[in-house]
Amino acid sequence: MADQRGRPSRLVVLAGPTAVGKGTVAAYVRQHHPEIWVSVSMTTRAPRPGEVDGVHYHFVSETEFERLRERGEFLEWAVVHGRARYGTPRGPVERVLAEGRPALLEIDLQGARQVRQHMPEALFVFLAPPSWEDLVERLTGRGTESEEERTVRLATARTELDAASEFDVTIVNDRVARAGEELVSLLVDHRTSTDR
Ligand code: 5GP
Repeated sequence: MADQRGRPSRLVVLAGPTAVGKGTVAAYVRQHHPEIWVSVSMTTRAPRPGEVDGVHYHFVSETEFERLRERGEFLEWAVVHGRARYGTPRGPVERVLAEGRPALLEIDLQGARQVRQHMPEALFVFLAPPSWEDLVERLTGRGTESEEERTVRLATARTELDAASEFDVTIVNDRVARAGEELVSLLVDHRTSTDR
């Protein structure tokens, strides 16, 4: 995809294992770098305490999600952890890229693979934990999931960690602000290199 002046896409896709902190890093970018547009996904899961509809996610019913999916309104979508469905609305991403504005998607691995099929020119960034122990700690520490759900998420995370080699770049999430700034510098570099 190219923007209105024929320049290539400025899309960066951030993926990585469960609970590595993708959402926190994306929130950091949204808060500190308003020049970068961050996609708001749709999900069929219920909001967690403190989550706001339209800000963290668009929370929709299964029926609504299915209606949108059938109409081809998702750039990608996936069932995550075998439970809820999550998807990136296509329209807003296409509009932002057409304006030549850098755009960030924070999605799971299955979604990243789908985006790569449609938009191989995007930059694919893998967010990794400093260690496996750190990842387990983060997942257990959040305390919002049941024991059963944690087990499922850890199993998913192990498989997801193995996928790092599929990505263009790996960022280690040792500190949110540092990882966020590294991501922003990639967004800027990506823009510069694709402008040439
Ligand atoms: P959570 O329910 O903890 O907010 O997110 C669960 C997982 O869903 C995270 O790994 C997150 O990256 C992923 N996710 C969030 N939005 C999307 C989306 O639009 N598409 C896909 N494929 N995954 C998403």
